[in-house]
Amino acid sequence: MASEPLAGAPLPWPEQPGDLPRRFASRAALEQQLRALFPEAPGALSPIRGGRRQAEQLLGRVQPERYAKARNFLNGPVTRLSPYIRHGALTLAEVRDAVFARTRSRQGSEKLINELGWRDYWQRLWQQLGDGIWRDQEELKTGHQPGAYARELPADVAEGRTGLACMDGFIAELHETGWLHNHARMWLAAYLVHWRRVRWQAGAQWFLRHLLDGDPASNNLSWQWVASSFSHKPYFFNRGNLERYSNGTFCRSCPLSEQGCPFDASYEQLEAELFAPMPAIRSGGSDRQPRRQTSRGSATTANPSAFSRPTRRR
Ligand SMILES: Cc1cc2nc3c(=O)[nH]c(=O)nc-3n(C[C@H](O)[C@H](O)[C@H](O)COP(=O)(O)OP(=O)(O)OC[C@H]3O[C@@H](n4cnc5c(N)ncnc54)[C@H](O)[C@@H]3O)c2cc1C
Repeated sequence: MASEPLAGAPLPWPEQPGDLPRRFASRAALEQQLRALFPEAPGALSPIRGGRRQAEQLLGRVQPERYAKARNFLNGPVTRLSPYIRHGALTLAEVRDAVFARTRSRQGSEKLINELGWRDYWQRLWQQLGDGIWRDQEELKTGHQPGAYARELPADVAEGRTGLACMDGFIAELHETGWLHNHARMWLAAYLVHWRRVRWQAGAQWFLRHLLDGDPASNNLSWQWVASSFSHKPYFFNRGNLERYSNGTFCRSCPLSEQGCPFDASYEQLEAELFAPMPAIRSGGSDRQPRRQTSRGSATTANPSAFSRPTRRR
């Protein structure tokens, strides 16, 4: 595969002088060209290969019923289609049709179809909100003022040396491959916003710099969901949750596993530690069930319900 020539899909318009090259003798030649064009960029090419052919192969392996049961596990049967959808190598309608074609019952396809719906929903919101997706859509439900959050990404996070095997593992994967499982994105975002108390915008910008599927709508609005500026309460997790859905991989090798793991507590303890009391909005303790959502529309809308964030179960 490595020496196979790479040819871009034919363009519907004539190539212009000065266009970037689109055909390469090999992947190594592509890498060499990119190094010459962007000498300041560190690292190597992502192992994730682009293109329509690759997208079709992945689409042929979609397993909607298994997906519904095990998608939250890091090694679960997620599709990994996001970079191809993001760059237009596949349309959402094609993915939808493939999902229906591969399921025996409506129920079997529901979970994956829902997720495609989230992508579509975020895109529609972006169309309406424009750059407003960079602003808090609602007040935070953490009990902290926006000014309490640092504006910059901490250096140890940017460099993947937090000392936590899980977070450093996710950061390395983000930097090296440009893709992360949804659960890893949620954990990393929650760690940055709630444990490190950094503004979600700093995390969103960082993700957009690295993700191959980086998309301002899905990205920013998901960060806001974690932060609680677009949901009825903050998303956070504990060690038990991370350990379960990562099959204990990180905890086994973590130097902080025995002592000093910041996630090793009950939800009640973590809630008391991370957030200030906000009884009117967020009831404390063991309330992990979705509650009636309290979304308010952005200042730019005449119809707040058009922007409301449906309650979501993970
Ligand atoms: C903090 C954070 C940042 C994120 N940033 C992005 C981003 O920049 N670009 C992006 O495409 N997704 C983003 N997501 C959503 C989600 O994590 C990815 O779409 C998903 O992990 C991609 O992997 P997959 O293709 O295997 O997804 P699958 O689980 O196999 O789902 C199939 C497709 O459905 C869509 N989808 C699935 N989950 C979501 C979701 N929660 N929101 C929107 N669409 C979804 C994607 O197009 C995905 O390719 C983000 C989530 C979080 C929590």
